[in-house]
Amino acid sequence: MKLLQKMVCLFLSLALMFGASALAETAPAETLFTPGTYEASSQGMFVAIKVQITVSDTAITNVIIDATGETPELGGIAAGKLAEAILLAQTPNVDTVSGATVSSKAIIAAATEALVAAGADIAVLDANRRDVGGEDTPKGEKEVTTDVVVVGAGGAGMAAAIMLHQAGKDFVILEKMPYAGGNTTKATGGMNAAETHYQKEQGIEDSKALFAADTMKGGHALNDPQLVATMANLSSDAIDWLDTIGAALPKISFSGGASVNRIHAPEDGSGVGSYLVDRFSAKLAELGVEILFNTKATELLTDAEGKISGVKAEGEDANYTFHCKAVILATGGFGANEEMYTQYRPDLKGTVTTNAPGATGDGIVMAQALGADLVDIEQIQLHPTVEQTTSMLITESVRGDGAILVNQGGLRFTNELLTRDAVSAAELEQEGQYAYIIFDQNLRDHLKAIEKYVKAELTVQADTIEGLAEQLGIDGTVLAKTLADWNECVKNQRDPEFGRSTGMNADLTTAPYYAIKIAPGIHHTMGGVKIDTAAQVINTEGQPIAGLFAAGEVTGGVHGGNRLGGNAVADIVIFGRIAAQSAIDYIK
Ligand code: ADP
Repeated sequence: MKLLQKMVCLFLSLALMFGASALAETAPAETLFTPGTYEASSQGMFVAIKVQITVSDTAITNVIIDATGETPELGGIAAGKLAEAILLAQTPNVDTVSGATVSSKAIIAAATEALVAAGADIAVLDANRRDVGGEDTPKGEKEVTTDVVVVGAGGAGMAAAIMLHQAGKDFVILEKMPYAGGNTTKATGGMNAAETHYQKEQGIEDSKALFAADTMKGGHALNDPQLVATMANLSSDAIDWLDTIGAALPKISFSGGASVNRIHAPEDGSGVGSYLVDRFSAKLAELGVEILFNTKATELLTDAEGKISGVKAEGEDANYTFHCKAVILATGGFGANEEMYTQYRPDLKGTVTTNAPGATGDGIVMAQALGADLVDIEQIQLHPTVEQTTSMLITESVRGDGAILVNQGGLRFTNELLTRDAVSAAELEQEGQYAYIIFDQNLRDHLKAIEKYVKAELTVQADTIEGLAEQLGIDGTVLAKTLADWNECVKNQRDPEFGRSTGMNADLTTAPYYAIKIAPGIHHTMGGVKIDTAAQVINTEGQPIAGLFAAGEVTGGVHGGNRLGGNAVADIVIFGRIAAQSAIDYIK
């Protein structure tokens, strides 16, 4: 909600900006609206999205979109982008946001209705469409001198920024998207940390050494042991620090790969990522730190000795040259850059991504231009059950509770509960490289997450297996036999063909039957730029690049060949803090 409030504030300031200046020069003179504030709503993915538009007689002066209840990555992002786009274009007919089509269409429909109520002729608004900030608009050049530039406002960048502010440093934080959060927003589980005061209070015995050992084992020992030890050793301090900035993670539970209960989550059960992004944003706002949104870093600058001396960035209305002593790269991974991930993993060509659109590997490319070394760059975690039109993850619990996967031929093809990478690989071997996840009413009744998928219209359903098969274009007799065979496996607690031994507590015999079409999605890029335990970026000669620090998904080495749940958040908070401290020490 705080994030939403922030967005609303942003739209308001945009409204004032355009209302007061730009529009005055170019708005058509004719009367277009009956001045006032108009509201309308339209059904989005999960909730009705409300749009409130204020108009003068000649211009749209303010757009406020309330998408509370939509997921942050869908509704929140669409709300952010479309409020701005409608204001800029002065028509509701703007481009939908990719990955958030349903929310976008709802916003456009509600905005259209509100504007019609305001007396607008939408065809006239379209004819008068403004192209502010388009390709042809000349940009100014701005030079800014500061001590540190933080590139990227995801979890790692925001943690670093809070640290820099607390140390009284002069810095700038850039974010290429119009909102903060990146992939961090998508983290749902929690943060791994050992020997924390919360564990002690709850009687959980753990050790930093055990945390490190679990992480190495989970990463198939490909991880950099020193980075892992650093993360484990500083994890309880990081939890203490989160307490002090209003981002407490007191709820502890078990997560795969951990020897003890170690994953720390928000008290209220909300997703850890959106919670932290919300809290970090609130803290930065409270400290008076402004994130420079819509500003994309494009190049790192060095002096004659090869030390960091600046950053070039493209803003909406200006190209920037930041002169600085240190840079913290917190640009995230490259899971949203198909060209880049297929360069390292040609086998992943055509794979959709669950990643935020900003995860395009910019930091890796910029650091490489300065000679940075890369580690484990081909280590990419796939999630096997991603609905492809919305990039929505179908939680592992669906299979865990008894669902099966079938191909277009109506046949099972794998033990559905193998590791994410193995199930994904099996799907990619099927015709069309997709599958259907099949379950029944009994499973729906016992798993709350399903309601979200049904509401989002991701499910196909029928009262009979043959009816379901018909809708999927599968041979009904084959699918019926596949389900009968599976139910026999459940009865015998034995799956002779694929050796599945878990998620067999309930058969699939209760109508109606459901299917969701899924395929693998890129989930996390574990490799990246090489850093040392001080978060200094290391070049291909094994030397630190003076003044260049990096933290979070942009780096490699912490997760090795497989990232454990709870370690992405540990990585961004802990190394975000380390990078800031190292930059502070460096610029002294
Ligand atoms: P992490 O988890 O490591 O913090 P995230 O994906 O959460 O990574 O955040 C990275 C952020 O960096 C995203 O918000 C992304 O949009 C932003 N970003 C990526 N490339 C650039 C760039 N070239 N300039 C500015 N911001 C960038």
